[in-house]
Amino acid sequence: MKIEIPRDHPRYKSLVIREKIVEGVEEGYVVLQGLIAHGRGECFDYLIGEETIEPAYRAEEAAVAKLLLSTHPVISINGNTAALVAKSIIELSKLVGAKLEVNLFYRTIEREKKIKNILVEYGAEEVLGVGEDANKIIEELGSERRRVSAKGIYIADTVLIPLEDGDRAEALKRMGKYIIAIDLNPLSRTSQVADITIVDNIVRAIPNMVGIAKKLRKTDRNILQEIVDNYDNKRNLALVLKHISSRLVRLAEER
Ligand code: ATP
Ligand code: MG
Repeated sequence: MKIEIPRDHPRYKSLVIREKIVEGVEEGYVVLQGLIAHGRGECFDYLIGEETIEPAYRAEEAAVAKLLLSTHPVISINGNTAALVAKSIIELSKLVGAKLEVNLFYRTIEREKKIKNILVEYGAEEVLGVGEDANKIIEELGSERRRVSAKGIYIADTVLIPLEDGDRAEALKRMGKYIIAIDLNPLSRTSQVADITIVDNIVRAIPNMVGIAKKLRKTDRNILQEIVDNYDNKRNLALVLKHISSRLVRLAEER
């Protein structure tokens, strides 16, 4: 890390995370648009209170149960995700038996390879979606944004999409995929279109999901199915909005 962040800085954690994204830009695998997306995420995290709230944890539980129940679960990886949670997302993929696929909004072979190398360095055995492997087309999406792997997202029944764009989330939905999103903005199109929306910072969500997967992986499939059936995404998103609004009212009243 190039900039030394003082440990006693009141926003130490947030600054360390920010630096990781900046490093990703300097190393050429996070795009400039990734910086803007991160800032948008930080803003919503401030409003939420920078913690995993109850509805987010419920969504994380339902997501892990669904991943464990799926036949071909795939975890989509972009630059920001690789910069922030490479190690824990690989652990999650192993615990739930999901494949990892590099899937970039701004696709170039150099970025794909750099992200694959990071994942391999952290212990990933197979990384899909790089170069010629991404040879299947998602109809209705333009240009390079629509290529996916025939062994990954193309045949997946469930796709975990951290920090994904709304257009692509909608296209995956139209392909009949079960979509799990991680997105700090409860109002984004991605959040609205997903089957399970985890409104939590990816740096908390993935480690939480690793812990949940360790607990649930030996659980009976009927019980996992019950967890998924009892989960209601619309209701959960409403609880997130209520959390933010009542928190803001409380903060205003404390002044
Ligand atoms: P949409 O296309 O879904 O309507 P958008 O165009 O605002 O939304 P995108 O850039 O397409 O957003 O997707 C990035 C999303 O990721 C944003 O909603 C942002 O809040 C969210 N995000 C950014 N950083 C994080 C993070 N660390 N953890 C969770 N979510 C994040
Ligand atoms: Mg978008």
